[in-house]
Amino acid sequence: MSYEAIIGLEVHVQLNTRSKTFCSCSTMFGAKPNSHTCPVCLGLPGALPVLNKEVVKKGITAGLALGCEISGHSVFARKNYFYPDLPKAYQISQYAEPLNGRGSVIIRDDQGEDKKIEMTRAHLEEDAGKLVHDEDPNGSSGVDYNRCGVPLLEIVTEPDLRTPREAYRFLTAIKEIMQYTGVSECNMEKGELRVDVNVSMRRIGEKSFGVKQEIKNMNSFANVKRALELEIKRQTKILKSGGTLVQETRLFDPQKNATVSMRTKEEAHDYRYFPDPDLVPVITKTDVIEDIRKKLPELPEARRDRFVSQYGLTDYDSEILCSSFRIANYFEEACGDFSKPKKIANWIITEVMRVLKEDRIGIEQLKVTPPTLRGLFDLIENGTISGKIAKEVFEMMVSTGKNAEQVVEEKGLKQVTDESAIEKIIDEVVAENEKVVADYTGGKKNAFGFLVGQVMKKTRGKANPKMVNEMLKIKIEKH
Ligand code: ADP
Ligand code: MG
Ligand code: ZN
Repeated sequence: MSYEAIIGLEVHVQLNTRSKTFCSCSTMFGAKPNSHTCPVCLGLPGALPVLNKEVVKKGITAGLALGCEISGHSVFARKNYFYPDLPKAYQISQYAEPLNGRGSVIIRDDQGEDKKIEMTRAHLEEDAGKLVHDEDPNGSSGVDYNRCGVPLLEIVTEPDLRTPREAYRFLTAIKEIMQYTGVSECNMEKGELRVDVNVSMRRIGEKSFGVKQEIKNMNSFANVKRALELEIKRQTKILKSGGTLVQETRLFDPQKNATVSMRTKEEAHDYRYFPDPDLVPVITKTDVIEDIRKKLPELPEARRDRFVSQYGLTDYDSEILCSSFRIANYFEEACGDFSKPKKIANWIITEVMRVLKEDRIGIEQLKVTPPTLRGLFDLIENGTISGKIAKEVFEMMVSTGKNAEQVVEEKGLKQVTDESAIEKIIDEVVAENEKVVADYTGGKKNAFGFLVGQVMKKTRGKANPKMVNEMLKIKIEKH
């Protein structure tokens, strides 16, 4: 009996406004605990929330980019529960009337076909604070309310995903769209994107869904994929042995490499949602929505297509470059009017991305800026340096931040194109390798490569290889 997984995701994206959702406190990450708080976000009695317009704008921007229906009339609701990181004992969220209704994104399924993943809604809510354990030697825990009231967009999918890899690709697509539209950097180390996954199993061919399990609050896509793989195995094993599942909320423990039960449905909260009486409904006029729609930037899918048509890149190159908004920008800036964009694309994909990985940095921290990378390519194009020397030059640009011309000048790496200088070295090599030359003239054609190599070696790779080849051939034939 075969089973298939049914997966739905709830993705929390932190919107990058400067101030919080309902007060003017800063959203800046990493501040001294509780330094960004006020009576509103601390939930002190009598304090009243005032909605930040930017939160609504960014929420609609994201909603439009996700193809959502924008209702124009949405309502904030109180989601009641008690937890130490939630000082009001309710979270302001949206329930019956979300900012963004149904939408969809296209991903590739495991067969490489396009697949539409539908979203039920994408609503606004405020974040909670953060509990700090293990820092006090006396064993007490602290709570930092800086994050309380920071704006989140919660994107809820239909149970349309079928495999952990599809889930991974969906999340990647969401992250790209959020970054492209500029509503969030989605820096997962700062908790700017967090995921709850819902998964159940059903026999292939069956129509109805099985009992789902929810795995909460993961902040890495790799963990989402791993947790899903483990959970699919666990549920399948239970079902195959004739067991039944009860609906649970679980947590993924990366150390144990397992999902563990947190609570069952019976212990689940009844949130007693009701419209927040302190906040009026949000009414967004059609012209405001249309204005935001007009200002939407190019989205990842469109940019990938454009990179193929405009720069003549392969789908593969374009996919890699566009997977990061910043890398795609870097590429376009470096290219400018350069006649061989494919060469710059290759260089970014191999050399630049290798450095980013090795040095564990983002492209914005790379000392080689787009104009200086372009400078390197100008030197290759006008014959000042060979492609091989360019790698050496690039390494020095990476470590020093100097531009290509400076490096070439200082290290004396200029390509030798002076005929007499090359000829002198060819003469030396011919004299030192009489036997090899005889082999070549006697018909051993691959002896030629060795001789070229010797000339290049003596010039420390700086001789123009084309000239060396031509001149050496003439020299030997006369020999
Ligand atoms: P809950 O009331 O438990 O929060 P929802 O109906 O709001 O459940 O759905 C939450 C998420 O779970 C959605 O992303 C939805 O697609 C997904 N989901 C719902 N039913 C199932 C199921 N049987 N198997 C897997 N995912 C499901
Ligand atoms: Mg839910
Ligand atoms: Zn505040």
